[in-house]
Amino acid sequence: MSNYGINTKCVQGGYTPGNGEPRQIPIIQSTTFKYDTSEDMGKLFDLEASGYFYTRLQNPTNDYVAAKIAELEGGSAAMLTSSGQAANFFALFNICECGSHIVASSSIYGGTFNLIAVTMAKMGIEVTFVSPDSTEEELHAAFKDNTRAMFGETIANPALTVLDIEKFAKVAHEHGVPLIVDNTFPTPVNCRPFEWGADIVTHATTKYMDGHGAAVGGAIVDSGKFDWMAHADKFPGLCTPDESYHGITYVEKFGNAGAFITKCTAQLMRDFGCIPSPQNSFILNLGLESLHVRMPRHVENGLAVAKFLKESDKVASVTYPGLEGDKYYELSKKYMPNGGCGVVSFELKGGRAAAEKFMKNLKLAAIETHVADARTCCLNPATSTHRQLTPKQLEEAGIPEGLVRMSCGIEDKNDLVADIAQALDAI
Ligand SMILES: *Cc1c(COP(=O)(O)O)cnc(C)c1O
Repeated sequence: MSNYGINTKCVQGGYTPGNGEPRQIPIIQSTTFKYDTSEDMGKLFDLEASGYFYTRLQNPTNDYVAAKIAELEGGSAAMLTSSGQAANFFALFNICECGSHIVASSSIYGGTFNLIAVTMAKMGIEVTFVSPDSTEEELHAAFKDNTRAMFGETIANPALTVLDIEKFAKVAHEHGVPLIVDNTFPTPVNCRPFEWGADIVTHATTKYMDGHGAAVGGAIVDSGKFDWMAHADKFPGLCTPDESYHGITYVEKFGNAGAFITKCTAQLMRDFGCIPSPQNSFILNLGLESLHVRMPRHVENGLAVAKFLKESDKVASVTYPGLEGDKYYELSKKYMPNGGCGVVSFELKGGRAAAEKFMKNLKLAAIETHVADARTCCLNPATSTHRQLTPKQLEEAGIPEGLVRMSCGIEDKNDLVADIAQALDAI
């Protein structure tokens, strides 16, 4: 599939049926797989042969869909997880352990911020948060001897800052660590971080990839390009024998293309078990089949809504990276020439009270803890997704209390603008 365009990969990537086989990806709703001899099965346990034995580790339906996502991102290997949270945790924990340090953009999803700042801290993994606008010198200053990964979001949820992927990747590589990028918002249709130097990409497939608010899920994709052995002292888990797998050294056995995802499956999925159900992976694939058709409409509607809000005297500010004059307009043009996504943030004059009044009066846009759905939805981050953050942390993440995050769906843009207009009038 690698010679085909992204539109073709969305529709047909990952699964090529043989003669007489199902046209659609089959749902292999089976926990386990049958073998004729224990010797056959033993080879699978030793990672000597590839195949299936227990769905917690691998399942064909999940693998077909993971393979499609790997093709979309231009990666060497991918795996699915039960949620975006699991994907980000696994991507980091696959190379970090007690005593490690992470450099992360402060402008990230609230759940990921909490995961890194609170939960991973309890595991003895330290973090230094940096502004996405940091200069190269400021980024360098955040690194320590025990830094093992750098993390950021292409377009941050909900602050809508744009990551300067090339700059972050350059600094990470100078310190011998990979850059992990959460590419949930633009999706590979609008940005492919590997083309700009990122090493690992993660997704909350819950968002645009599924796109219909039907299945929570996540994905991790490896570019296959990071040279782990060149920094073997930092990554003993990949570069020295794994005693829980008969002394296999992942990089030696699976190469740079396969080591990261194989270790993540063999160790983290084995031990934590955050697998998606095959049924959910099937639903995710239905979303992927139209991702390239939906994303341009999300962008078109997001831009129309952003332009309308910009002209309203009830609106204090509008944030949409694709809107001319936005702080991240130039970066957005560079990394996402066809636009980023359908999510628009804006601050209403009158703060939290005005935001609540406005949202109550919307008819098409529903109040939901969700984004990136075919149906337009909105929320007030300070009282929902980010309510665990202190006022200072909210400020650092660029989230004023009166901010409304609106995720423009794929309805008629004129209907969305009219709905917003009447709700603004009601304030
Ligand atoms: C939603 C989201 C997540 C978490 O995904 P879940 O599937 O809800 O666990 C992670 N990163 C970003 C950017 C998100 O928008």
